[in-house]
Amino acid sequence: MSELDSDIQFLKGVGPKRASLLKEELQIHTFGDLIRLYPFRYMDRSSIIPISSVSDTSAYIQLRAKVVSIEFHAKKGSVMDLSSVPEKEIRFNTIGRMSVMVSDTTGMMELVFFKGIKWAFSKLKIGTEYLFFGKASSFNGRYNMVHPEIDPVPAQTGPAQTSGITMPGLTMSGIYPSTERLKNSGITAKTMNRMMEAALNASLPDVAESLPEYLLKSKGLVPLRYALRNIHFPKDLQALEKARYRLKFEELFYLQLSLLKQKYIRSRNEHGIVMPKVGEAFNACYQALPYSLTGAQKRVITEIRNDMKSGRQMNRLLQGDVGSGKTMVAVLSALIATGNGYQACIMAPTEVLAQQHFRNISRYLEPTDVKVSLLTGSTKVGERREIHAGLEDGSIGIIVGTHALIEDNVVFRNLGLAIVDEQHRFGVEQRAKLWRKSSCGLAPHILVMTATPIPRTLAMTLYGDLDVSVIDELPPGRKPVKTMHATEGKRYALNKFMRDEIAKGRQVFVVYPLIFESEKMDYSNLEKGYEQIVHDFPFPPYKTAIVHGKQSNEDKNFNMSAFVAGRADILVATSVIEVGVDVPNASVMVIESAERFGLSQLHQLRGRVGRGSEKSYCILMTDYKLSKESRKRIELMCATENGFELAEEDMKMRGPGDLEGTQQSGLPITLNIASLAKDGLLLSDARECASAILEKDPTLSLPENAILQRELRKEKYRIRDYSKIS
Ligand code: ADP
Ligand code: MG
Repeated sequence: MSELDSDIQFLKGVGPKRASLLKEELQIHTFGDLIRLYPFRYMDRSSIIPISSVSDTSAYIQLRAKVVSIEFHAKKGSVMDLSSVPEKEIRFNTIGRMSVMVSDTTGMMELVFFKGIKWAFSKLKIGTEYLFFGKASSFNGRYNMVHPEIDPVPAQTGPAQTSGITMPGLTMSGIYPSTERLKNSGITAKTMNRMMEAALNASLPDVAESLPEYLLKSKGLVPLRYALRNIHFPKDLQALEKARYRLKFEELFYLQLSLLKQKYIRSRNEHGIVMPKVGEAFNACYQALPYSLTGAQKRVITEIRNDMKSGRQMNRLLQGDVGSGKTMVAVLSALIATGNGYQACIMAPTEVLAQQHFRNISRYLEPTDVKVSLLTGSTKVGERREIHAGLEDGSIGIIVGTHALIEDNVVFRNLGLAIVDEQHRFGVEQRAKLWRKSSCGLAPHILVMTATPIPRTLAMTLYGDLDVSVIDELPPGRKPVKTMHATEGKRYALNKFMRDEIAKGRQVFVVYPLIFESEKMDYSNLEKGYEQIVHDFPFPPYKTAIVHGKQSNEDKNFNMSAFVAGRADILVATSVIEVGVDVPNASVMVIESAERFGLSQLHQLRGRVGRGSEKSYCILMTDYKLSKESRKRIELMCATENGFELAEEDMKMRGPGDLEGTQQSGLPITLNIASLAKDGLLLSDARECASAILEKDPTLSLPENAILQRELRKEKYRIRDYSKIS
């Protein structure tokens, strides 16, 4: 048996108790699991920081200092004088906190212990010098260190020095992910280092190379054993860099290989409806357009057209910032389907959006003889029956609607293309139903449109087996939305500004956050906000509508339609307002408690204005006090209108798992060392590399690719199948 598979409890210094902790807390079961747990940071144990220069609470630091005094604080709060009490008489269970003052030649610092007091106390002697290792925290304007590790000063080092020090014999060591439970049971950073050393010594000889020789050569990657040794115990910075690069590449490469292989299998198995021509209606509509398409729109339509005539089933994600003109792309794609004798459906997440699509699309279709209908939950029975008949006999070419489209009693004659707008609002099952709507035995082509910009690197992974099209260009002549940050003190000025805009005939959105965990409070804020607005903008002459999730559908539609039709001046709403609603006359977007929104969400909301010819404004109202992160978000919003840029920043700040619009999916596999936010270039490289290999050897059956087969079979590379979700 390979040592890699040995149970972790048999590792030197572990044992059954620690083993069960490692299993529960870090999912480490074997030696092999342990050596694949990578440090997330390194401590340069060779350097020591003078106390006076401690200024950072984020990095681990090491002090070399002498213990000056030790003080115990009882759990009840009083200071206990134990100076004359022998150690074995100290009742440690009554002590809540131990405060240790230490000094070097530059200053003093307090070390604080709430736990493990007895153990720490036994290691410390007043007047003796130690190495203290940990993170500084800032308390009442001063720095202290909570629960530092304590080490004796190694013998070979000379007398205390305090600046620019390197200590021979100490090197860089890894800091590993840890948890409260691990720390409490004495698995410190140092224990981890020791365990890692033991695991590497025992199992490294059994580690088999996981990438083919030809890849190591062509990509200049170091061998796996070297990489594993140096990721844990770097010989020097250069070795660390090489190790890290190799391990990241490996991770991203297998992720992409696995995704692309799936895509390949699917495209081989699922034949698509062949739609060879564009048809007359397409040309008629195209020629009658009141504007010329942007370059990006043209490119995307060509991509879609090529898919639809290829004989493969199209599965394409269309990303385009708000206002980038996705509707037009949808219409022209639908016309390709009808031009080839098939039907198309366009599904929107809400009634209001479906109506809006229907109105716009009807207009675009005027120069053609294609019949378009609208089917939603509120379509009257008689009309519904007619529509059902029209879909079944094929007289309706394009149907626009909501979930009503996928009800079981809706039967198409020959659905050839399904377009889903604002994809993240659709559940998995609903989409699967759409899949089954085809009646010619072949799945319809699928186009999913989203206005949530997802960074390319993430899209490649999240939708790894979908093709992604991006409209990265806004139609010409768009006026930028002026974005401003304000606090409560500016409320009066804001109200005046709103009145001025309304006097010019414009409309105003006021949006409140609605976060699940604080729903009750958020609703009460919304109600208070609404009352305040009605008070500040009384009727007559002002009309204010309100939309939120607790209203009945009827109330919601009534209020929303009133605003869309211009019968209300102000719309007060929660963040759940329809993301795609187009009210060109609205020129002001006020976002309350803007610090509570994520960047993507703020950007989506801002996209509701600036759609008309008027100058538009977005006002971000926040509390006076803002966290560093919130301030950064607000500043970014004021600085740029580019959705992709914001999405990239959002991902950097929050990590990909939290991105708006991707909640339901997470990532198909867990990345241990690479980061989608930071390793975009490497990811593209890995993807190209994987793609080239599959092109030559789609089944990976060439002898030199045997390693790839073997690795792909490992559990860690098994990806969840998202192809049927989006
Ligand atoms: P979204 O991508 O947000 O769905 P829409 O399709 O609603 O965007 O388009 C936003 C607005 O831009 C619409 O009023 C539409 O008529 C207009 N539009 C779309 N394409 C162009 C273009 N190429 N040139 C000028 N205006 C365009
Ligand atoms: Mg849209």
